[in-house]
Amino acid sequence: MKINFRETKSIITKSNIPQIDFVINPYTGCQHGCIYCYAEFMIRFTNHKGDKWGEFLDIKQFELEKIKPQKYNGKRILLSSVTDPYLPLEKKYQNTRKILERLVGTNAEITILTKSKLVVRDIDLFKKFKNIEVGISISTLNEQFARILERGASKPSDRFAAIKEIYENGIQTYIFISPFFPEITDYKGIIGETLDYTDNFSFENLNFRPHNIPRIMNVIRENYPEFLSKYKEIQRDRSYWDFLEEDIKSYCENMKLNYKIEFHHGGFSKS
Ligand code: SF4
Repeated sequence: MKINFRETKSIITKSNIPQIDFVINPYTGCQHGCIYCYAEFMIRFTNHKGDKWGEFLDIKQFELEKIKPQKYNGKRILLSSVTDPYLPLEKKYQNTRKILERLVGTNAEITILTKSKLVVRDIDLFKKFKNIEVGISISTLNEQFARILERGASKPSDRFAAIKEIYENGIQTYIFISPFFPEITDYKGIIGETLDYTDNFSFENLNFRPHNIPRIMNVIRENYPEFLSKYKEIQRDRSYWDFLEEDIKSYCENMKLNYKIEFHHGGFSKS
């Protein structure tokens, strides 16, 4: 892992994600190195030409005093959109923790999204916010397959244990079932595993992008060859997602869940 330290003027930046006013990305790059990651375009924007996604990390350096909690009152802030706030190196550098400590007292709505069990470290801090929700994203219950998809992230069972602990500490939780892998993502199983700790679920489809298509197809070929032709078909024909959306809707309504479906062709977005 290539580590750099980079000065950044503003650690809280305006967002163009629907319903999110600001985003905080404490790092550039992501140690989780998910094969489908939509944030890989950051390589182009951050002077990392030639580097591989998942193999570099810039530790952002910033002035904590510049963070003014009241500035964000009434706004919605997401941690994070193009990295994970609880990467393994967060243990050492603590950028996420320092930012949250500084934000205590804000009336902003804070949304945390992670694939890491390290998130439980900050339960003491979460309790100090008036309006905070903490969620995990997950694609599969299959731990071996998750290791292939998201090599640096916590295993699904550890993510579930983390969300349970967060819920038991009285913090609002949610599950982001994303990206949805056709024929593989067992969304009913994921809901079943987590229903005791949240009733908030959102869903995002797998986005085929030129940079991730070869990796996704290779992984499917090697692990689920029986679905390969289906994946090729879904790439061409969107009707699979329309059908799935109806299926999810009717299931969630029967179960009386709060849910949001974000099936789109665009970039990262969080409900
Ligand atoms: S955790 Fe998120 S930002 Fe990091 S590699 Fe995975 S999808 Fe990308």
